Amino acid sequence: MLAKDFYSIISSDESTTNFLISKNLVANNENAECIKCGSAMNLYLRKERGKERRVLRCKRKGCQTTQTLRKDNAFWTYIDKNGRLNSGLSLSQQLELVFYWTQGLSNKTIMSLTGRSSNTVCDWMNLCRDIPLKMFEKRNKFGGPDVIIQVEKRDKQTLYDIIKREVILGSIIHSDGWPAYNGIAQYGFTHNTVNHSENFVDPLTQAHTQRIESLWRPLRLKVVKNMCGTSPDLLPRYLMETWWRGINKSDLFNAFLRDMVEVFV
Ligand SMILES: [Zn+2]
Repeated sequence: MLAKDFYSIISSDESTTNFLISKNLVANNENAECIKCGSAMNLYLRKERGKERRVLRCKRKGCQTTQTLRKDNAFWTYIDKNGRLNSGLSLSQQLELVFYWTQGLSNKTIMSLTGRSSNTVCDWMNLCRDIPLKMFEKRNKFGGPDVIIQVEKRDKQTLYDIIKREVILGSIIHSDGWPAYNGIAQYGFTHNTVNHSENFVDPLTQAHTQRIESLWRPLRLKVVKNMCGTSPDLLPRYLMETWWRGINKSDLFNAFLRDMVEVFV
């Protein structure tokens, strides 16, 4: 999505709400039922403390129970480290943080574009990473014809366990001469090796393991630069983010909203 199209969506609370309804990302007033009496509900503009919020309101006179549009989607009802719901952000403000995350902007840039604090931005960026994480858990095995898979050096047993779990049988695995790879072929994979010290690309098999090293270096840098806090648990989340960005090359914003329906709604 182009920035100008995105900014026109979040230019008002109403257009944000309509956009999110069209994407199935907030409760739709057309099929919502009052939790108290089961009657149909309307979109209603509630004013409190100078802020306007769109909510669902029961149409039945004498009931008029209201409920938040966000209730069907746990992403919007995120509770921050201090136990505050949504950090007081409107749906438009939340969606703006999501948009910047999908564009891969640094936390620092997002802070200066939104005026949000470092904690708020960190919280929301981590929340955004829940989508790649959940999609990673649902993923299919890798591999098949013409797919390149990168494998880190591990001990023999760990390596076999990962490959058996993650790679489609019959895939071709290219590796360097690390001894732990010996014997992969007996599990039903074709195995080619590259002599790292002698060849950049193996002249016989065309395998190029150097590519693995060149993919890792910029990723390590990005993790160090954008890490919120120092928890080592964050590293796998960054790897899953990189995986998710890799499989959704075009229009990450729409891909994110599509996957949010799968994960949170
Ligand atoms: Zn009601």
